[in-house]
Amino acid sequence: MIKIAIDGLSGSGKGTLAEGLAKKFNLKHLDTGAIFRAIAVGFYSDGITELNDDVVEKELKKLNVEIKFDGNAQKMILNGKDVTGKLRDEPVSQMASKVSAFPKTREKYLEIVSEFSNNYDCVIDGRDITSIVLPDADVKIYLTADDRTRAERRHKENLEKNIPSTFDEVLANLQERDYRDTHRDIAPLIIVPEAFVVDNTNLNIEQTINHCVKFTTETLRKNGKI
Ligand code: C5P
Repeated sequence: MIKIAIDGLSGSGKGTLAEGLAKKFNLKHLDTGAIFRAIAVGFYSDGITELNDDVVEKELKKLNVEIKFDGNAQKMILNGKDVTGKLRDEPVSQMASKVSAFPKTREKYLEIVSEFSNNYDCVIDGRDITSIVLPDADVKIYLTADDRTRAERRHKENLEKNIPSTFDEVLANLQERDYRDTHRDIAPLIIVPEAFVVDNTNLNIEQTINHCVKFTTETLRKNGKI
C-alpha cells in the first residue's frame, strides 16, 4: 500500500498539497484537521467554553463524528448532520486547537483515522501524521512558511469568502494556534528527522506541489512502490 504523511502549521498549504499528491498518485486524501473542527462545532454549539478532562470526556460521548466522501470531497457529519460548511469559522478553529490537546479527543480521533488509513492508499495531512498516525509512511513531508506569509494567505481567503477580519487579527490567531499546537503535552506538531522539509514562503502552491511530486516520485520508485 502507499501512505503519504504531511504535517505542517496552519496556512502552510498542506491541504492543497495533499490534494495535488492525491490526484497525481491516485490516492485518497484525508484532512484530519476537519475531524477536530467537526468535534469543535459540537462543543461550540453546545455552548461549552471552559474545557477540562471531565467536560471533554462527557461532551465527546454526545458526539458522533463520521467522514463521508462525495467523489473526492470530504464531508464531515456530526450527529447525522453535515457540518462541513461550518468548519472554517474562526471560533471553530480556536476551539479545534484547544479541544485537540485533550487525551480523550485524540483517542476518538485516532479511532476514526486508523479506520481510514487501514483501508486506503492515502495521503493524510495534519499535525501528528508523520510522528504518530503513519510512523511507517512511505513519504513524510513537513510543510512550513513564515507566519506573516501564512497569515496573508488566510486573510486573503477570508476576504474572498467575505469573512470580516483584519490582517493583525488573523496573524494573532494563527500565532496563538501555532504555539498551542507545537507546545502541548500530547501529540505536538514536531519535525521528525526523516521528514522532507519544505519552506514555501517564496513558492506558490503549484511550485510547492511540483517540488513535492518530484521528491515523492523518487522516494516511491526507490522503495519499489511505483
Ligand atoms: O489543519 P487544521 O488547521 O484544519 O486543524 C485544526 C486544528 O486541529 C489544529 O489547530 C490542531 O490543533 C488540530 N489538529 C491536530 N492534529 C491533527 C490535525 C489537526 O491536533 N492531526
